[in-house]
Amino acid sequence: MEATTLQPVKNFINGQFERNGQKSMDVFDPSTGAVISTLPMSGAAEVDAAVQAAKAAFPAWSGLTLKERVQVFFKYRSLLEQHCEELTKLVSLENGKTMGEARAEVMKSIELCEFAVSMPQIINNEIQEVSRGVECRIERRPLGVVACITPFNFPNMVPHWTVPNAIVLGNTVVLKPSEMVPLSTVRMAELLKEAGLPDGVFNVVNGGKEVVEAICDNSEIKAVSFVGSTKVAKIVYRRSSANLQRCVALGGAKNHLLVLPDAHLQMTANNVVASMSGCAGQRCMAAAVMVGVDAVQPIIDRMVEEAKLIVPGDNLGAVISKEAKERIEGYISEAESQGAKVLVDGRNATVEGKEDGFYVGPTIIDHVTPDMSVATEEIFGPVISIIRAKDLDEAIQIENNSNYGNAAAVFTQSGGLARRVMDKASAGMIGVNIGVPVPREPFSFGGWNESKFGVGDITGKSSIEFWTQNKKTTTKWNPEDKTNWMS
Ligand code: NAD
Repeated sequence: MEATTLQPVKNFINGQFERNGQKSMDVFDPSTGAVISTLPMSGAAEVDAAVQAAKAAFPAWSGLTLKERVQVFFKYRSLLEQHCEELTKLVSLENGKTMGEARAEVMKSIELCEFAVSMPQIINNEIQEVSRGVECRIERRPLGVVACITPFNFPNMVPHWTVPNAIVLGNTVVLKPSEMVPLSTVRMAELLKEAGLPDGVFNVVNGGKEVVEAICDNSEIKAVSFVGSTKVAKIVYRRSSANLQRCVALGGAKNHLLVLPDAHLQMTANNVVASMSGCAGQRCMAAAVMVGVDAVQPIIDRMVEEAKLIVPGDNLGAVISKEAKERIEGYISEAESQGAKVLVDGRNATVEGKEDGFYVGPTIIDHVTPDMSVATEEIFGPVISIIRAKDLDEAIQIENNSNYGNAAAVFTQSGGLARRVMDKASAGMIGVNIGVPVPREPFSFGGWNESKFGVGDITGKSSIEFWTQNKKTTTKWNPEDKTNWMS
């Protein structure tokens, strides 16, 4: 395999790329294990420089009308479309997902931009004559400098969950991408500049924990969005809120699919296996636990057949790192040693010509009990744990006991039973006969319980509330009327 080597990644501050972190870290191609670039491990000084640039850009940017601001994103959306294949390759290269999955991610970013440019049609500021001659109006105003912190699993899409909406609504942004996947945001910065975004409106500071801490501690940053693991979401939510920033922090997941015996055999097997193995199981919406209610053996048998058609390096991408591969395999071995039955085993997967790549094959573990770590902890790999339940009430109870609450789904042909799961599941996003129930724009994305901290969701209409504050104005203009006057 010929290794790809790219230019070292630089920070993007005030419209310029600059390399100013003292330390640097390697960027890997997970499919080969080769180093493909490096990134600067920045700190508080770089965050401060980005914040100053964003602060300086704020008055002019927020002074434009919403209709003017969205024009940049009409152009940017076209550029995403124009560069779709190149961006797809970049996502696949740095994240390890398949080209098809990477393409779907870029397409989703395009859809997110379509929502952002539709803001002028969605936002209707309120106005009412509350008393004769007296009007109250509410307008949405931006917050100022805001920050977005993103994870490794969707290098292109997750930054697009927040950045277009925050900017279109008049804020200026500092983005901190995952240090595992810094390449996609370099192109994001270049293309936003090409689309005409003024310098300083969008800035990227690369690095790890130090950058995140500096963001949370910076009082000039008014709001922080975070997407990542629950452990870090809690740290960020607490630290950011303690600094009086507005914060929404999305965490990890352990999504339960409740499979009933009347579920459509082939469709259910396909959906469950696709949900647990798509993006190598590194989706916060991936199926992690299947709760099989009563007589579901034929569905499990078909799932095994389906899983065997999934081939690492072909229709299954790599996981992000060597550590991730070891962690995932460790969970499988632990479950096996505790008495669970591994029906399809993805340990020790290798791909010819990419022997150093971080691959784990699809894995189905049956007869898992609710107390095992594979039943409760986020594995974040192409692994599904099957817990058997005697009836729907027990299945719902198992789902409700999870600390997480991103997604849950039910597979059945009974409308009544599906409705019961919709009512009782303790999760923010519910699927009926769908394994990855991601709400599409304009519906908003966000979980419950320890899958999200803060008010509101991160995308869609809900994000408008997060990235703006209301200005309430009361006016009176016709003293001639002299009726019902407020003082
Ligand atoms: P992560 O929590 O390790 O990292 C997320 C971000 O936090 C990165 O930018 C990273 O640099 C930073 N970070 C890491 N450790 C930190 C620390 N100790 N202090 C401060 N900052 C720190 O997450 P990840 O491994 O990049 O992504 C996978 C996780 O993200 C999974 O748990 C997945 O479920 C979750 N995720 C959730 C959603 C959602 O919508 N709920 C979406 C995508 C991913």
